Amino acid sequence: MTDQMQNQSCRNCGKQLKGRSDKKFCNDYCRNHFNNCQKAGTNQYIRKVNNALRKNRKILENLLGNNESCIVDKPLLLEHGFLFHYFTQVIGGKGGKQFYLCYEFGYSNMSHGIRILGKGKIKNSRQRSPALQQPVSDVNDIYAQ
Ligand SMILES: [Zn+2]
Repeated sequence: MTDQMQNQSCRNCGKQLKGRSDKKFCNDYCRNHFNNCQKAGTNQYIRKVNNALRKNRKILENLLGNNESCIVDKPLLLEHGFLFHYFTQVIGGKGGKQFYLCYEFGYSNMSHGIRILGKGKIKNSRQRSPALQQPVSDVNDIYAQ
């Protein structure tokens, strides 16, 4: 423990630190530079996720058009650049069936394609239960329509 503290090096430039054992940086410049880089990395990641979600939402909206729901082939979504691992919410249905939301639009995997659902149907189920995890009955209501 003591050895580790004596050999502490600056988290920014890696230079060995002298003096107080709780020091993490040589100076204010190193501290600020390190913190700014951390923040930039985080912001970049947030931007990337936000862009993917926005794009997914737009693709669902475009494919749905004026319909309340439709079924499309998975390859079509992929062609549009849909990223299946980005969604805002998952609703777990009976028998393990899952329903993914990208904001107010949603989709689920069917044996014969991807079913896309629009605002209206999802809003109905949300109004009854604003909680993150929807009760199973609400999901069944969506499919029953
Ligand atoms: Zn330094």
